[in-house]
Amino acid sequence: MTDDALLARANARIPGGVNSPVRAFNAVGGAPFFVALARGAELIDTEGKHYVDYVQSWGASILGHADPLIVEAVQRAAADGTSFGAPTAHEVELAEAICDRVPSVEKVRLVSSGTEAAMTAVRVARGATGRTKILKFAGCYHGHLDSLLVAAGSGVATLGLPGSAGVTPGAVEDTVVVPYNDIPGVDAAFLEHDFAAVLVEPIAANMGLVPPTPGFLDYLRNRSTGMGTLLVFDEVITGFRVGVGGAQERFGITPDLSIFGKVVGGGLPLAAVGGAASIMDHLAPLGPVYQAGTLSGNPLATAAGLAALAQLDQTSYDELERKTAMLVGGLRNVFHDSKISVQVTQAATLSGLFFSTTPVTNYAEAQGADHDRYARFFHGMLDRGIYFAPSGYETSFVSLAHTDAIIEHTLELAAAVATTL
Ligand SMILES: *Cc1c(COP(=O)(O)O)cnc(C)c1O
Repeated sequence: MTDDALLARANARIPGGVNSPVRAFNAVGGAPFFVALARGAELIDTEGKHYVDYVQSWGASILGHADPLIVEAVQRAAADGTSFGAPTAHEVELAEAICDRVPSVEKVRLVSSGTEAAMTAVRVARGATGRTKILKFAGCYHGHLDSLLVAAGSGVATLGLPGSAGVTPGAVEDTVVVPYNDIPGVDAAFLEHDFAAVLVEPIAANMGLVPPTPGFLDYLRNRSTGMGTLLVFDEVITGFRVGVGGAQERFGITPDLSIFGKVVGGGLPLAAVGGAASIMDHLAPLGPVYQAGTLSGNPLATAAGLAALAQLDQTSYDELERKTAMLVGGLRNVFHDSKISVQVTQAATLSGLFFSTTPVTNYAEAQGADHDRYARFFHGMLDRGIYFAPSGYETSFVSLAHTDAIIEHTLELAAAVATTL
């Protein structure tokens, strides 16, 4: 079965041939390949072509694909039954593992996707504060819940949708949107509204990679505290990826609520929302804020998450950051040598690439980058067996399985591609 034949079958039975829009390559053109298997830093498609993978399931596969200890943990868990409708020890252990690593999280609820975690965070924030309005930032993505699908970055930006069809004006009327890194904008919004919550990606990773400018997150923390608003860090990408305690540890800021996904599930469907016990206890069955899930805390997913977290310590993150710096520094040199204006951004273990003459600090500036040139770069690299994100609004992910030799090889190919841009 070739990739083309599979795509034809997929297009006949799955809208756009994919189960999540960015996979369709609409932002860069061309047709996606179909993954047959993956090992470490590599994907192998159904035609046997190998790719070095810098998508890594949007960062979930931090140890590399098919990590032996995760595979073993999932196989062992599966043999004992896959879903029960009753609690298990692994749920308790994963909750403890999260709380141990992230001090702001005293209690945590496990769910199955980042979207669900964001939805729960908004609901519990509204339930705890008795307020309705929420503040978010343009270009930050918090999953596809209606109320947050406003100026939502990556997938939505990629497809050029203003928000989304099917979202009612009522669903977003309580959502206020301000540009990322815009302190006066936040100030003005707070003067006008009493917010239940401010939601922010502490390192924005869904409009390309845009780090917070110094003072921005501190301002959000102080202003939220002063106004009785809950500060929610969306650490679905940054959690357990930029350090043991996530972005909040790196920046030394304590949010009221945090959401996690991707890495925390070890590549299985698992996400989490957590925070101070006094807030989390508003959730049912203790409190009046309802939330539930048939597959929440699923035995396979908790086994995978535990196996992933157990293998990650500060040494792992230091190593990942060194590798990321190697990729970033190398790409900067490559484009400098080719006299191509580029902003290769890095925040800890994350990196991004904007073909822009000026630094990118918010969504409007990210949109101003040359996305056609990104598409040419993407395809040039893909032809040579390197899979970067199929959209200029995404982040690149190095895994612990990416060796220095793999990164050097990537940079040699990037140098060849740069001459064609
Ligand atoms: C991926 C992502 C989400 C949504 O998670 P899903 O599991 O895809 O629903 C939310 N927030 C951020 C920052 C993300 O990157």
